[in-house]
Amino acid sequence: MPPVFRFAPSPNGYLHLGHAYSALLNVRRAQESGGRFLLRIEDIDPTRCRPDYEQAITEDLAWLGITWELPVRRQSEHLAEYGAALARLQAMGLVYPSFESRAEIARLVAQRDADGGWPRDPDGAPLYPGAAKAVPAARRGELMSSGAPYALRLDMDAAVARAGRLDWDEAGCGPDGEAGTIEARPAAWGDVILARKDTPTSYHLSVVVDDALQGVTEVVRGQDLFHATSVHRLLQVLLGLPAPAYRHHQLIRDDEGHKLSKSTLATGLRTLRAEGVSPAEIRHRIGLV
Ligand code: GLU
Repeated sequence: MPPVFRFAPSPNGYLHLGHAYSALLNVRRAQESGGRFLLRIEDIDPTRCRPDYEQAITEDLAWLGITWELPVRRQSEHLAEYGAALARLQAMGLVYPSFESRAEIARLVAQRDADGGWPRDPDGAPLYPGAAKAVPAARRGELMSSGAPYALRLDMDAAVARAGRLDWDEAGCGPDGEAGTIEARPAAWGDVILARKDTPTSYHLSVVVDDALQGVTEVVRGQDLFHATSVHRLLQVLLGLPAPAYRHHQLIRDDEGHKLSKSTLATGLRTLRAEGVSPAEIRHRIGLV
């Protein structure tokens, strides 16, 4: 079976040089290994994703000379599949609802910080500080049917206890040079959100379901997602899904050394194209000639 690669952008802005690097690296690896290359549109967040951004993504990738298999998988069209995976985790007793608002969570974190400190996840966000896990099942049911908004969270302690030791094969490297067999540390993320009342999925859940459904064997993506791989490995094991190999690549930075952002026009592929920069110059600039 040929290896399967994917580039999985979210249509919540225009692609920049960092996306060009990631997409072209996937394409190169696929070509070198006789593999397949897929494009997946990660548009589960209806408040931030827009069809015109998706259109722009496909135009910009085509302009770079990239081709991909059709049909393109669009996550918003597969919510039932993520819902089924979520239901399996719920049936294992690994999911609970939490009802705190963002403001309430911020208040709890501030309190815990003041009481001696509260841990942050690898992205720098505070771990979930609430006590929703301890709410009795009957009360949970009442709250859920009351119409109050809620988030469905993974009971990380129970999930880690069930999954046991996890690792992954890292062919690239992490932000601190981590390479080879990496021990997954999902507990560092706390009780992550898997779904919300109105969205039956999350980035973590949909990415592992899709990588498995699409037969992705090599995940090539930026180092900013290196630590998220710990959560992905955990969900893969809990759901009985195969583990792809991972290759996290360095991030393209601007002249001041900052990570690129979708909101910075100067490094956006659209802007560069409008300025007359050619695809060959883009490749040169990101070191993929
Ligand atoms: N959709 C994610 C992003 O745009 C990438 C997901 C992945 O490569 O795993 O950052």
